[in-house]
Amino acid sequence: MTLTRTYDSLFIDGQWMKPSSSETIQVVSPATEQVIGTVPTASIQDIDRAVNAARTAFDKGPWPTMAPQERSEILRRVRDKIAERRDDFADLITEEMGSPITQSRTIQVGAPLALLDSYLELVETFPFRDIRTAQSGSALVTREPLGVVAAVVPWNVPLTVAIQKVAPSLLTGCTVVLKPASETPLTTLALARLFEEAGLPPGVLNVLPASREVSEYLVSHPGVDKLTFTGSTAVGRRLASICGQNLTRVTLELGGKSAAIVLDDADLDATIESLRLASLRNSGQICSLKTRLLVSNRRHDEFIDRLRALVESMPVGDPRDAATQIGPMATARQRDVVQNYIDAGKNAGAKVAIGGGRTSQDRGYFVEPTVFTDTDPDMSIVLEEIFGPVLTVSRYEDEDMAVQLANHSPYGLNGAVFTSDLDRGLAVASRIRTGTVEINGNSAGFHAPVGGFKDSGIGREAGYEGLDAYTEPKSYGLPHDFVLGLEAAGKSRVGSA
Ligand code: NAD
Repeated sequence: MTLTRTYDSLFIDGQWMKPSSSETIQVVSPATEQVIGTVPTASIQDIDRAVNAARTAFDKGPWPTMAPQERSEILRRVRDKIAERRDDFADLITEEMGSPITQSRTIQVGAPLALLDSYLELVETFPFRDIRTAQSGSALVTREPLGVVAAVVPWNVPLTVAIQKVAPSLLTGCTVVLKPASETPLTTLALARLFEEAGLPPGVLNVLPASREVSEYLVSHPGVDKLTFTGSTAVGRRLASICGQNLTRVTLELGGKSAAIVLDDADLDATIESLRLASLRNSGQICSLKTRLLVSNRRHDEFIDRLRALVESMPVGDPRDAATQIGPMATARQRDVVQNYIDAGKNAGAKVAIGGGRTSQDRGYFVEPTVFTDTDPDMSIVLEEIFGPVLTVSRYEDEDMAVQLANHSPYGLNGAVFTSDLDRGLAVASRIRTGTVEINGNSAGFHAPVGGFKDSGIGREAGYEGLDAYTEPKSYGLPHDFVLGLEAAGKSRVGSA
């Protein structure tokens, strides 16, 4: 059975409640430009209801005081339900935002399942309690759930980002109001159904699509203790400034423009094959993609020839077709943004080495995968996040110049080094100012934190750091012997809350 496409209610306080506004969002397939579903949007009154429900579920419990194992049990049930419906989620995400179906099954559904598994494993050894002893005093230190979390998420990987925020929030005892992107509310509301079926107590998770204005009201709500936001740097800045008023805690996962340094000794066949997903997955709509390729003068022409062969091997087309590797942009607006960048690159004098024209489709928000060479480090196509299948290749003379170019960016989310010498790769990677650097295409996995330096954000997700982001440390000053007694009784241990 396919997942629901039409909703008339919002998920508030464990129930499907009729909204107090009659406004709706029509969800449009980016491949066919047809309406595929409709959802209601929340009003300010609905946000009040949701925040109050989350507040009550937090303040009166039992969610924050339940044993971590009991909370995990519910999340594990949700995990199994997603796994049961994995094909349905993949189909829905492909329809909703245009991800090629083979990638939907892996990056759109496989990845959030792996992420959830990782959080479920890490929470078992998360230090909810630990002791610290020193000459200056002895303490029991606890990690308290932070409170009510407002989660605002983008459209590009809707299930992954929802899990990225909801799982660590709930596992640490917080309650959540989740605001999906207007482009992908169907995936998020389908996820809410699974939490309902899994027996999550009322109010612990609330899911409401909302306009920008109403979303800002949510973020500014005095009942919200923390904002966790993934999206553009511009919106992140605005929301962080709103959070400053109430000292609402923030995690911001923002844009990126990540560089891949291809060192002279790199295996070019393996490097190029790695870029298929590292630079172009989800049709270029992933924050961590390596979109600035830095190649030495010596290997530049050879690299471009192989990159051309790679791009030509990636069919552009209907994302429901298993042969498709590049689908449409998620929205007409995003298609226009990408097309404008391609025009800007041409106007600035960069050379179109690959693509740069129009695709043959007469429907859908397609753009032709495009690679620019002969770029200048300050061109907009090199400095700004495009969020589409557009890459730039820049030449460097030596390692220092490669590192300098990699760091010549307002962003600091991700990066890559390709080399046949891992020690050399690690040394170069250590000079790149980003939250993650992948060497030879190796993923750091979900036990490792992700997040940005510079304009790519504040805070980290995934790993212990991702759980920690939803807690407040609390220190109890106690007599030294008592603290030692706690330890002896096994009450100070990791995960023994
Ligand atoms: P966006 O910033 O336009 O929107 C993100 C979310 O914020 C959406 O839910 C949107 O409805 C909401 N929003 C927009 N304006 C708002 C406002 N004024 N007040 C409250 N909410 C508001 O981003 P997008 O176009 O949906 O997503 C693409 C961006 O997300 C890219 O910049 C990409 O790099 C970034 N992203 C980052 C990561 C990461 O982990 N760093 C992951 C995925 C996407």
